[in-house]
Amino acid sequence: MPNSAESSDKGKRGLLIVISGPSGAGKTSICRALIARLPDAVWSVSATTRPMRPGDQAGTGYEFITRDEFEARRAAGAFLESAEYVGHLYGTPRAPVEQALSHGRNVVLDIDVQGGIQIAEKVPESVRVFVLPPDMDSLRDRLEGRGSEAEAQLKKRLARADGEIATARKSGCYDHFVVNDELEPTIEQVLGIVAREQTHV
Ligand code: 5GP
Repeated sequence: MPNSAESSDKGKRGLLIVISGPSGAGKTSICRALIARLPDAVWSVSATTRPMRPGDQAGTGYEFITRDEFEARRAAGAFLESAEYVGHLYGTPRAPVEQALSHGRNVVLDIDVQGGIQIAEKVPESVRVFVLPPDMDSLRDRLEGRGSEAEAQLKKRLARADGEIATARKSGCYDHFVVNDELEPTIEQVLGIVAREQTHV
């Protein structure tokens, strides 16, 4: 159990960092790099009703639960935000995020645009970055190259990408749009955004 001395040892709340973008834009790689390179950054493990797919065990970090369990937890207010994405539910468990932030840790959320909009309302002091693919062809190439999606799922994800980008722009909830042409410069760009944000909070 953390005591009050521990919870105030840093004196300052951590920064909540939201990374969104269409499936295949590269946000998971960016999130992994943030966790590796930022001091004291932690990954928020989402709960989801989607089935496991190849690569999930390697630590993309999900808690796989049934729809009934998800609905029960959502009704109990256990999620900071939640959304339905191509037929499956996803949510950010509230308690671990709040605990980490109160201990001065930076928390990284890899969430869709609906989730980003909810976080902008609930945690306005968060930083919200939207990752864009250089173009739609490269998005398709990346999704196909990943090889983790059945063709029908891949089509649904691609069909959704345009709408997600339009929603992100229209919502006004994302302060930063970065084009992920090459991963390393994009990571540097996002690290720069976070560093600037931290000097403001
Ligand atoms: P995937 O099935 O490819 O792992 O994720 C599908 C989409 O759901 C991605 O855009 C991912 O960022 C998003 N996602 C993952 N976890 C959450 C979550 O907890 N909340 C929301 N709103 N979206 C999530």
